[in-house]
Amino acid sequence: MALIVQKYGGTSVGDVERIKVVAQRIKENVDAGNDVVVVVSARSGVTNQLIERAKALNSMPNEREMDMLLAVGEQETIALVAMALHSLGVKAVSRTGAQAGIITDFNHTRARIIEVTGGDIKKQLASGNVVIVAGFQGIDPDGHVSTLGRGGSDLSAMALAGALKADICQIFTDVDGIYTADPRIVKSARKIEVMDYDELLEMASSGSKVMQARSVEFARKYNVVFEVRSSFNNNSGTIVKAEVPTLEGLVVSGVAVDKNQTKVTITGIPDKPGSVAEIFEDLGASGIGVDMIVQNIGRAGMANLTFTVAKDDASKAEKILQNTCSKMGAEVSLTGDIAKVSVVGIGMRSNSGVAATFFSALAQKNINVQLITTSEIKICVAINLDKADEAACALHTAFGLDK
Ligand code: ADP
Ligand code: ASP
Ligand code: MG
Repeated sequence: MALIVQKYGGTSVGDVERIKVVAQRIKENVDAGNDVVVVVSARSGVTNQLIERAKALNSMPNEREMDMLLAVGEQETIALVAMALHSLGVKAVSRTGAQAGIITDFNHTRARIIEVTGGDIKKQLASGNVVIVAGFQGIDPDGHVSTLGRGGSDLSAMALAGALKADICQIFTDVDGIYTADPRIVKSARKIEVMDYDELLEMASSGSKVMQARSVEFARKYNVVFEVRSSFNNNSGTIVKAEVPTLEGLVVSGVAVDKNQTKVTITGIPDKPGSVAEIFEDLGASGIGVDMIVQNIGRAGMANLTFTVAKDDASKAEKILQNTCSKMGAEVSLTGDIAKVSVVGIGMRSNSGVAATFFSALAQKNINVQLITTSEIKICVAINLDKADEAACALHTAFGLDK
């Protein structure tokens, strides 16, 4: 008998028929004698619809109210899954994030988990119930509902698996596992059998939305071994754990595309110590992350600065930057027509020539590079949005990843 945490994403619980299939799978695990905790997302599309409705009423909705709204999506699913299980004769109870003791900080819409008590989950399991927990949500220390950032149900699952010391954490989604690139963009992508936390973390933080980056970070920190697999079939998935030996000769393990980025350019910054710090301090204080920072010294003691922010943060960032920049006489402009394309691989640490392969693959397709960042195991560029898929395919081929 094992304690299993299973997470079902939006497509997996997309409608009533899908929920029946999921309930059946949960029942099989219960019938095999396991204790099962289930974490669910909102039905696919629901969170986006809620965001659209909010934005139709207010372009910069209050973040506490936003969390109150967004938490609704997951709450619908937990009740429906519980009802579907009851119809199959399986004992089940639903719990909100708050009831499951997912305590977060006050950073609404992108809250961080500070503690997971588990609420009465252990007690419910002991009395023979399946416990179905709303993903993506928690509660702040003042008792207000909070959410964990887009894709945050992955994090809820990891946090519960860690806190309950689960034997297995399974992430059920709409693909068979983690591939060398998004299989919807790169048709020749291959499924990876076993993967290291570090590699997946780089892929996830480079925009591969198959797993939320923070959930992978959490799993690595608390050593939660997990499997990513499909809820649409019984194929084995991808196992993610620590220290997976890299195959000799494999330099790059994956290609990631992020189409949810906005490029920010600030011109006319006084070229003196402290100006750039002021710009980033104001953004940082609002919880907005920046990436791909490039500074150029312009004319007459002025500097120009370019960087990227997540599209979701763009209007908030613009408002903050306009305020900071008007004080220093600088100008801000934003453009959303970019994408980040990255190659990731632990093998890059010990191989030379990776940059040459990367940039010549793009040059052969006549793709212009706007910004570049690198880490020990990643090269990332910002390019025109409409070239993103072509660039991903070209890099996938150039690094020998095609099947
Ligand atoms: P869920 O709703 O189950 O959380 P997501 O839509 O968040 O599912 O993530 C699954 C999607 O991630 C897939 O449908 C696929 O298009 C995309 N994806 C991006 N990169 C990859 C990758 N490297 N491997 C597999 N899927 C990927
Ligand atoms: N429903 C949330 C979202 O769409 C969380 C999740 O699905 O993981 O981002
Ligand atoms: Mg997801």
